[in-house]
Amino acid sequence: MSKTLQAHENIEKDDKGASVFSQIRRYRLMQICAITALGLFASLTVARNITFVIFSVGLTCLVLALGLAYKHKVQASAYTLLTSMSVMLFSLALTGAALFDLAVLGYPGLLIFAAILGGVGLFISMLLFVIAQCVLLSWLTLQGFITPHIPSLSWSHLIFILVIFVVTGFSVYILVRDIKKLTVSLKKTNAKIQQSRAEVEHLAHHDTLTNLPNRFYGEILFEKSLQAAQSNKQQLALLFIDLDNFKPVNDALGHAAGDKLLQQLTQRLSETLESNHHLIRFGGDEFLVLAPFTINTSQLDGLAEALISQCASVFEILHNQVVVSASLGIATAPNDGQDFKQLCRKADIAMYRAKQDGRNTYHFYDESLDKATDDKFQMLQRLRPAISAQQFELYYQPMIDLRSGNISTVEALLRWPQSDGSMIGPDQFIPIAESGGLINELGTWVLQEACKYCALQRQNGLSGLRVAVNLSVMQFKSGHLQDIVAKALTDSSLPPEALELELTESLLIDDTDQIQLQLLKLSELGISIAIDDFGTGYSNLGYLRDFNAAKLKIDRSFIRCLSQDNQDEPLVKAIINMAHSLGLQTVAEGVEDKSTLDKLIEMGCDIGQGYYWSKPLPGSEISDFLNSKMVDPTCLKSSPLD
Ligand code: C2E
Ligand code: CA
Ligand code: CA
Repeated sequence: MSKTLQAHENIEKDDKGASVFSQIRRYRLMQICAITALGLFASLTVARNITFVIFSVGLTCLVLALGLAYKHKVQASAYTLLTSMSVMLFSLALTGAALFDLAVLGYPGLLIFAAILGGVGLFISMLLFVIAQCVLLSWLTLQGFITPHIPSLSWSHLIFILVIFVVTGFSVYILVRDIKKLTVSLKKTNAKIQQSRAEVEHLAHHDTLTNLPNRFYGEILFEKSLQAAQSNKQQLALLFIDLDNFKPVNDALGHAAGDKLLQQLTQRLSETLESNHHLIRFGGDEFLVLAPFTINTSQLDGLAEALISQCASVFEILHNQVVVSASLGIATAPNDGQDFKQLCRKADIAMYRAKQDGRNTYHFYDESLDKATDDKFQMLQRLRPAISAQQFELYYQPMIDLRSGNISTVEALLRWPQSDGSMIGPDQFIPIAESGGLINELGTWVLQEACKYCALQRQNGLSGLRVAVNLSVMQFKSGHLQDIVAKALTDSSLPPEALELELTESLLIDDTDQIQLQLLKLSELGISIAIDDFGTGYSNLGYLRDFNAAKLKIDRSFIRCLSQDNQDEPLVKAIINMAHSLGLQTVAEGVEDKSTLDKLIEMGCDIGQGYYWSKPLPGSEISDFLNSKMVDPTCLKSSPLD
């Protein structure tokens, strides 16, 4: 709400309050006029001579005051009432027993009227006026200007006294009742204010979806928990929980489902914790747990495992069974620091490491992680100018048809040559380029270069050569990948069937609709798609058909094991059979020796790639290798990476 609007509302509220108050004042004024008039009327019946005249004038003034009040002229009415009554009392005393006259008893009543009807100013004026009248009466008497005559007691005096008592008593009664009412309403308002203050405080400190303490309050809880832990000679662990695949749930089932998942998760996590633990919603799908512990961090293993397993169990959300997992990072105070933000950062770094370790696991913070983060930052700083200056190089590694021994495709693999002659491999800088938002530029350059290289080789006689390019999931985010690919093909005049794009499995489970649409457009261009590193991700076969993949590249971790033991053999065989049944060709990555090759041939694998034939080589060297066409099994050339 804008400030002006609020000010306006406040003024309106004030106006309302003021008008209620003046209403009450008017009402009280009319009540006082009426009861006093009634009293005077009663007194009039027993009054004689001058007293009768004074009462009559007083009564007339009262009727006038009543009329004024009725016509909402509250101030005029109040002044008429007070002035006429004090003049009336003064006249009665002046013509009667002066300071000893019964009329003087009416003065306290007048003061009460003044207190009810006006502010402090009116009350003080009235008080001074009454005092002045009493002083005047005394002076006139003492100077002999008037002679008080004390009448002998009659019933009319009693009536007069009773009238004064009733009128004064009534005024006191309404005054006290108003005060009581005011006190009660003040108490109620106060209670309401207290309650809304508590609500506002709760809102400021808690997250509305899960009702958990928020990050801001988390810091206060952290300070308190740390103090308590230190006075109990304990340490305090800060566990940072991040859901691994919350986004796909949100995207596929909608935000309402995402919210439900977070609420159910909160419930489960809370049940896992002890009374001296705190669960905090750090933001989005991130939670913090504060847990004091006594001896060493191994005590926290159980807690971390319990929290992870709570996240990984099945959730029933809007009639869907949803499975997520969580990665968890742990930092401890005072070992890793005592500052909340610092510890959060450290626990976050450790959590990130847990994600790299394959997710659904936890990791403790240690300084080497910080160093790694530092190194990454340094590398990111160097990556930007290197991309602009196109300081990268593409190496190529052949894929061999295991039946014919022919090379039909080469995989383009990125290298970053350094001024000292060394080479940085893609595993080191691609994740940094991805997280630093540089992968699109880099990926576009790779596509352009690879297409150019392949087109040139085709012109130089290797007419059937194809090139495979690795894609990062980030390259799909912009939604224009097909345009970039199409441009690379036109610029190089490479036919689309000579280009293959390698996508990892994990890419396929993220943002499925968006990516599926782009893959469809890419297939429409005529290029083919290979699934890279198969077996390391979710290995969900359902989507392979949806993505028009032509090849399945079995991850080299499975192939490496083939030469050592037979454990993975049935698995590799199953993958090959399954791929064939889906009409996909299989590529075995990382073939390093003859025995592995023999096993793969026996299993019916279609294509092989690995050091057994060649390491990735610079374009110029690989073209010699390709031109020989004949694949010599003993031909193991060295790569600058090794
Ligand atoms: P990848 O797509 O699985 O590429 C194959 C990796 O296995 C290459 O590592 C290659 O050098 C290595 N390799 C091939 N044969 C053998 C073998 O017989 N034994 C062993 N031990 N290793 C072998 P490299 O070049 O370091 O690339 C690593 C990863 O970096 C690639 O894995 C790919 O995921 C990524 N990458 C490389 N270039 C690019 C690129 O241009 N864009 C993107 N987005 N990622 C790239
Ligand atoms: Ca690849
Ligand atoms: Ca691979």
